[in-house]
Amino acid sequence: MARPSRYAPDTLPRPRHWSQDAACAGELTATFFPAGTTGTPVESDVRYAKKFCARCPVRSQCLAHALTFREDYGVWGGLDEDERAEMIRQARLAADRRRRREREERARAVAAA
Ligand code: SF4
Repeated sequence: MARPSRYAPDTLPRPRHWSQDAACAGELTATFFPAGTTGTPVESDVRYAKKFCARCPVRSQCLAHALTFREDYGVWGGLDEDERAEMIRQARLAADRRRRREREERARAVAAA
């Protein structure tokens, strides 16, 4: 029995990836990575990029990807790098508050026992 070639084309079926439905498909990647981080031209570039995101059916998947893989640059899911950094900062603060509250509740439970 002949073994398949290790160079045979990969024809395995795969689930559709969210990026295939992106509103920015076919657009220049540079559109979503404006050079620099401040100044009027960059701000208008960011606004232009965000217009794609506003009508994108996979916006939440795109943002989740950027947050999961810590994409530090560019517009992802309708948010620029500063907005995503703020989201991450707020999430960390909330996690810190939750851990502190849990620690205090455990300490109270031990003290009451
Ligand atoms: S949310 Fe924006 S950057 Fe992400 S896939 Fe959609 S259009 Fe592209």
